[in-house]
Amino acid sequence: MKHKWSEKVRADDGSQSRKVCERCEMICVSRHEHEGGRDRHWKEFFRGTDRVECDKTPACEPVEVPA
Ligand SMILES: [Zn+2]
Repeated sequence: MKHKWSEKVRADDGSQSRKVCERCEMICVSRHEHEGGRDRHWKEFFRGTDRVECDKTPACEPVEVPA
């Protein structure tokens, strides 16, 4: 299942932007850095404050919230 991303929100310094899945609440952070004369661009994924280690976008898996 694909994530249902919210609008991107860009950081004030422009170095990163983040969007949040409305279904599973995963956070996708797009980062840009200028380093050693070249631009680097990569993505990081988080659930809450936990970094999700992955090579590509993790699947959208809505978490059951205990009542
Ligand atoms: Zn999702």
